[in-house]
Amino acid sequence: MFRKVTIVSIACIMSLTLVCGVPAYAKTASSIKQELAESQQNEKDAKAEYEAKKKAEEAIKSEIKTLEKRIKSTENELKSLEKDIAANDQKIEETEQEIVEMETTVRRQNDDLNARLRMMYESGEGSLIEVLLGSADLTDFLGGLDIVKKIHEYDMQVLDEMNIQLNKIEQKKAELVDMQQLLDTHKKAQIQKRESLAADKKKLAAAEAKAHQETVEAQEDLAAAQKESDALEAELKSYTSTQTWGGGKLGWPVIGRVTSEYGYRIRPNFGYRQLHSGIDIAASTGTPIRAAGDGVVYSAGWKGSYGNAVIIDHGSGIMTLYGHNSSFAVSSGQSVKRGQVIAYAGSTGNSTGPHCHFEVRVNGTPQNPRGWL
Ligand SMILES: [Zn+2]
Repeated sequence: MFRKVTIVSIACIMSLTLVCGVPAYAKTASSIKQELAESQQNEKDAKAEYEAKKKAEEAIKSEIKTLEKRIKSTENELKSLEKDIAANDQKIEETEQEIVEMETTVRRQNDDLNARLRMMYESGEGSLIEVLLGSADLTDFLGGLDIVKKIHEYDMQVLDEMNIQLNKIEQKKAELVDMQQLLDTHKKAQIQKRESLAADKKKLAAAEAKAHQETVEAQEDLAAAQKESDALEAELKSYTSTQTWGGGKLGWPVIGRVTSEYGYRIRPNFGYRQLHSGIDIAASTGTPIRAAGDGVVYSAGWKGSYGNAVIIDHGSGIMTLYGHNSSFAVSSGQSVKRGQVIAYAGSTGNSTGPHCHFEVRVNGTPQNPRGWL
């Protein structure tokens, strides 16, 4: 018997349940309600996770700003240190010049003194010998000696003063060299500080990039989490079936290991749950995929992340979906019998390896296929 059924809301299913009292429906209705609640919770969780990721990213950004300020001030300190060092270098150069000049003067003074003494001893008239030998008496001699001594003392005094001056300049230079060492030590410390800040910044930049990536992914996941599934749900809800579900169990589309069950998965990187709307059955590429029950092919074609997907309408709002196929064996509108080959396994769409993603939907809402097999 074929009956035209249009199911627009869960309320309708629930009322149908009450009227018909079909156990399969009763179970389905309550599970739909529960799964919708779970789906809403999942969306909330995903949103909260996205907000948290965004906050974390902004915190890192503000840390980077603080660090950049510190780097700038360190660089300014370094610049002023370099100025001080250059000024000190200039002073050292000037002092060295002073030293050279003073040494030249001292040497000249010393040479002059020696030359004068030599002249006094060696030359003819007025020489020291002459002065002394020409002395009339001891008083004269001592007087002459005194004059020579005085000349010598004066020269020696000048020389001493010059040497004192030279010592002072040399001491000044030593102080400047000490200062230079101190400045160099400061500079080294400052450079080290700058390097460590730069390393911190690099680490933070990497953390920021990672946080940003996570935010973007969380945002994308939030948006895409159930987009495909929701879109399908909306599409199937508005679809008017021409079939009536005959009841009973569905058949396995392919015999293989179930690699992923239906239900909410914890996303390890994001910490929130995402609904896996079907079960994954491992099947090597080209393995025949069979209709789980009698029905009409609702669609056979590309369906986004599902890849090449076949959807079969079994009537009364019950539909099955077979995703990631490599190729099709049926086309839209075709009637199929339970166990009929409808497609061949593959890894098209959002898939990491060949398998059959098998879904059971009631009025568009995904159900756990385990309850139907
Ligand atoms: Zn799957």
